[in-house]
Amino acid sequence: EETEYGYPITCGDSRAVLLFKKFVCPGINVRCVKFNDQLISPKQFVHLAGKATLKDWKRAIRLGGVMLRKMMDSGQIDFYQHNTVCSNTCRSTKFDVLFGNSRVP
Ligand SMILES: [Zn+2]
Repeated sequence: EETEYGYPITCGDSRAVLLFKKFVCPGINVRCVKFNDQLISPKQFVHLAGKATLKDWKRAIRLGGVMLRKMMDSGQIDFYQHNTVCSNTCRSTKFDVLFGNSRVP
């Protein structure tokens, strides 16, 4: 079995692991969060943690107590192979556009 590398993340009182190799652009609807042995998307994780009202999943999810948005803006972490795999929707700061994305079934 392949070792899965991940970052411990939190949202409210909920804890999960952000899987490094599954965290691909734009993230929101990608199943890259290991939560109670289930693989879910950041959007689902935020919903399950009861923080969906925060609107911005990158602000709702924290890594080491720091907002994911801050970690990504500062370049401390990024989507997996982001230089080659980019949806071109990640640059938008208009969260509603991403959160309301209904293209993923
Ligand atoms: Zn991107």
